[in-house]
Formats: sequence, C-alpha cells, structure tokens
Amino acid sequence: MRARKFWGWGYEDELLTLEEENNIDKSIAKTFVLDSVERIEIPKIDDINLPESSLKSPNSLKAIVSNDKLERLNHSYGKSFPDSARSILGQFPAPPDFVAFPNSEEDITNLLDWASSNDIAVIPYGGGSSVCGGVETNVGGDYNGVVSLDMKNLNSIIEIDRDSRTALIQGGILGPDLEGQLKEYDLTMRHYPQSFEFSTLGGWIATRSGGHYATLYTHIDDFVESIKMITPSGLFESRRLPGSGAGPSPDRFAIGSEGIMGVITEASMRLQDRPTYRSSCTVEFTDYENALSALKHISQAGLFPANCRLLDSNEALFNGAGDGSKHLLIIAFESADHDKSHSLKRALEIVEEYEGIFEEPKESKDAHRSGSSGSWRSSFIRAPYLRESFTRRGIIQDTFETAITWDKSHKFIENIKNQAAKAILEITGKPSLITCRITHSYPDGLAPYFTFGAFSTPQSMIEIWKEIKLATNEICIANQGTVTHHHAVGRDHRPKGYDDQRPDLFNKVLVAAKSSLDPKGIMNPGVLIDPEGKNISNWMA
Ligand SMILES: Cc1cc2nc3c(=O)[nH]c(=O)nc-3n(C[C@H](O)[C@H](O)[C@H](O)COP(=O)(O)OP(=O)(O)OC[C@H]3O[C@@H](n4cnc5c(N)ncnc54)[C@H](O)[C@@H]3O)c2cc1C
Repeated sequence: MRARKFWGWGYEDELLTLEEENNIDKSIAKTFVLDSVERIEIPKIDDINLPESSLKSPNSLKAIVSNDKLERLNHSYGKSFPDSARSILGQFPAPPDFVAFPNSEEDITNLLDWASSNDIAVIPYGGGSSVCGGVETNVGGDYNGVVSLDMKNLNSIIEIDRDSRTALIQGGILGPDLEGQLKEYDLTMRHYPQSFEFSTLGGWIATRSGGHYATLYTHIDDFVESIKMITPSGLFESRRLPGSGAGPSPDRFAIGSEGIMGVITEASMRLQDRPTYRSSCTVEFTDYENALSALKHISQAGLFPANCRLLDSNEALFNGAGDGSKHLLIIAFESADHDKSHSLKRALEIVEEYEGIFEEPKESKDAHRSGSSGSWRSSFIRAPYLRESFTRRGIIQDTFETAITWDKSHKFIENIKNQAAKAILEITGKPSLITCRITHSYPDGLAPYFTFGAFSTPQSMIEIWKEIKLATNEICIANQGTVTHHHAVGRDHRPKGYDDQRPDLFNKVLVAAKSSLDPKGIMNPGVLIDPEGKNISNWMA
C-alpha cells in the first residue's frame, strides 16, 4: 500500500527530481529578483504534534474508525495552497478526532445517528482533493468533536444497464478505478478533472466538478441520472429517469451540496462508448480578441468539440505549448460512432475567418497526445506536483476560475487580470504575471481559469494567500462573474464571494432545507452556509 503525502499531491514517493528542484529555485530567483531561495524541508510525521483526540468512539463504530496519526493528518485538510502550506509548516491545530471508513450504508447511518445525538461534526471525505476548504476539520467550538468520514471502501460499480448505457456506482470510487472497471465493459464516463487520480465520484457530484469535455457535458451534473444520499434524517433517493418535468429536481438539489446535506453513497451515471474516431488541431492567433471571437463562433455553431481550450500566449509558454508569441486554441473532436473530420473542417473554416493559423489537422486515435496539445496535456498532469515545490519555497502558485457571458467576455478577462495583478502588487510589493486559459465554453459564455505566482516567504505565505484569495473572490463578483465555475464553494469562496453572490432568499431556502435534513447541523458545518443556531469558525473570515 503506497501512502499519500499528507503535505502535498500524490504518493509519498512521487517527488520532483533534483534537476526539477534546482530549476524551480532558478526560476523563482529570476522572477522575483532574489539572491537565494529558502527551501523548507519535507515535513516528517514524527515531528508533528497533534492534539490528542477528545472523543471516544462507541463500541458499535469501533470496527470502522481509526485514530492513526497519518490518517488524522491526511484528513485534516484538502489540497489547496494553504492546506499544503499549513501541512508543510506542521500546523495542525484541529485535526479530526478520528477518521471513519464505513463499509456499508448501514455504517453511515449508524455514524450519523451517533454524531447527531452527541453534537459531533461529520465531514464527508472522498479523495480529499478539495481546493476550497471543503474537507477541513477546523469547524469551531460549538461541537463536541469532529469526524472525517472517508468513503474509500464504498468503491464498486454495482450494476450496468447496457440498454440505457448507464451504471449504478458507489460514491467512494476513485477516478482510475471507475474508468478501469468500466473499460472491462468497453464503456467510459469520460469525466476527467485534473485531479482525476485522487478524486471520487461522490466528491465530483458533491462539488459539481468540471471535466475533460470543454463543451456540452462540461460538469458532472450532465452525467447524473439519479442519486442516493444518506442524511441524518434518513434516505434521500431520486428515481432513475432520462429527464423529468416533475417539479424542482431532487438530483439538482443534491448535486453541489458539498457534504452539508448528507453523504452521497450511490449514483446512477450516464456513460459513453469509448471513442475511436479522433480529429484535432491547434490554431495560433496573434490577436486575443480574434481568438475569443472564433471560440464564441465555434461554441454557437452546434459543433460541440470535446476539447476547445484557449490558452493565452503566456499560459501556452508556461505549459510548454508555444513560444509565448501566440495564443493557442486546441480543438479536438471525438466519437465512438462516426468520423468527426467534417466537424473539425467546419471549425477550421470558422477560425480562418478570425485569422487563425494552423497546420494540417491530425486524424488518429492518439492525435490528442502529440504536438502542442500533447505538450499541454503532459504539463496539465504534472502541474500539481510542481505547485507544492513552490509552496516549499514560500512562493504562492495558485489558480482561480470563474464564468461570464459572451457579451462581457473580453473586457471581463482584461479587468480580472489587471485588477488581480494590481491587488497582488499591493499585497506583496512585487509584480505578478497572471495567465488565462478558457477551460469550458458554452453557447452563451465561457469559463476563464487564471493562474498566478505571487511573492511571499514561508513565514508570510499563509496570510498573504488569504489576502489574495479575498481579493480575487471580490474581483470575480464585482465584475459580475461567479466566484467559482467548478472548484466549488467550500469555506474559502464564501467571504467576499459566495456569501454575496447567493440570493438572500436562496440562503434561507438552503438553511431551512439543511434544518430539515440535518436538524443538529452536524454535516460539514461552515461549508456553503452556516447551519441554524451554530457558531461556526471560518479561518478565512
Ligand atoms: C491538482 C488539482 C486539480 C483539480 N482539478 C479540478 C478539475 O479539473 N475540475 C474540478 O472540477 N475540480 C478540480 N479540482 C478540485 C477537486 O478535485 C474537485 O472539487 C473534486 O470534485 C473533489 O472530489 P474529491 O473526491 O476529492 O472530494 P473531496 O475533496 O474529498 O470533497 C470535496 C467536497 O465534497 C464533499 N464530499 C466528498 N465526497 C462526498 C460524498 N460521497 N457525499 C457527500 N459529500 C461529499 C466533501 O465534504 C467536500 O465538501 C482539482 C483539485 C486539485 C488539487
């Protein structure tokens, strides 16, 4: 069994090479004009002091709980920048009292009954890849304890309905296990968030994750046929239907509930046949506005490419997909049923109208793995490993994502880049380069995803990150975007963000719904909303 890093991404043995580490030192020294770069050692589990667990688990739960130190460390945080920073610095003031690994829905019901009766907070945990404080166990003093509920043992495909091309799947299954098991049936879900390796179906549904498809099936929402969720008040289960006009959707209510209403144990998911036809091409643009117009035209033409990601010139450069002089639009079509070259041909006619330049398109099963799109793909998978190395030097490498309608798109992206750069300069005293890629596009708008590096030191990085996060939350909202397109709300996107974006009456509806499903307010308190009658701590506020 390989152990996961409690302080970063991936397994303990997945470290950067010495050459990669030295290159990071050089690049930080050059970017921020430094004589030398400080590097914090990788933390050792034995050096970390954890508060003693204040809870005794009842006999009925003994078989499924653990207070092992590594488990408590691993379940204290998710994988955001401050999660990694606090872990590297050995700051674990409020770990879970214990971690529960239920083997059945009955185990979950028993745990929730016990937690409700004893005022103990329960944090549902899938792969723990949250980047917005979604699985943090520091919930404040209004609870007698906190338990992280890890879904990893509920990880099977229960049944496959070939006729309807759907499968009933347990919530704790990790991405690679899900796709591995579906492959045996020559099926796939084709939902690949960048965190695919260490995130789960239940987590994707609970956070409304965004996947590989850049158009049409952008969010996990589109694949969910029905849901089973265990709440402290009982079972919440919807009916398997391809569509339904029967009132507000129970599925839509559970999707995005971020563990505050109950635990998603199963879902019936819409599947795909495995694609065999692939056509792709990378288009270069000198002018960004032209590139955006081409993307809009393609998005509104009913072509629905599987990939259609626009990287601005710096984003392309940093991902090894260009020399930094051109903006790149990566277009790819795929199908299990028919040749898509005619769709690519039409997309390329469109880009030509906007002065896009491209080489002869590729038609092969592996077209998406070669050229600029292949370079971008490899760098996309490697990025999380590099990010934690910046954290070890006290340098903030982070991202934020939003969405906006086409009518405001160009000005919006410019405003966000300029305003975020200004805020970072004011906060850190050093300039920052902000790059942008459009991860998903729709007939009526697009989802820009921004990456930045900001100067800080190991001593200041957490406070500085917090100031930047509050600024970027506010900037997205002030420019009429959303505080998140697919990373979810958690705790970190609430202040100056979701708390201002969410309609007041909708807040009342959510609080009332939570009171009904979770009367004691034990489920993931402080995420999305505050439960009625509880004092919740949010370290971001
Ligand atoms: C390197 C990296 C890349 C990422 N890339 C993407 C990306 O491309 N697209 C994207 O959308 N997100 C991305 N994320 C964010 C994150 O991976 C997603 O939010 C993902 O959906 C979380 O799944 P998880 O299983 O890890 O959930 P966790 O992190 O364990 O939990 C997330 C939230 O869901 C709740 N939850 C988890 N499981 C359940 C359940 N069974 N029932 C009820 N509630 C539950 C938790 O309480 C928490 O609020 C990325 C994160 C990292 C670190």
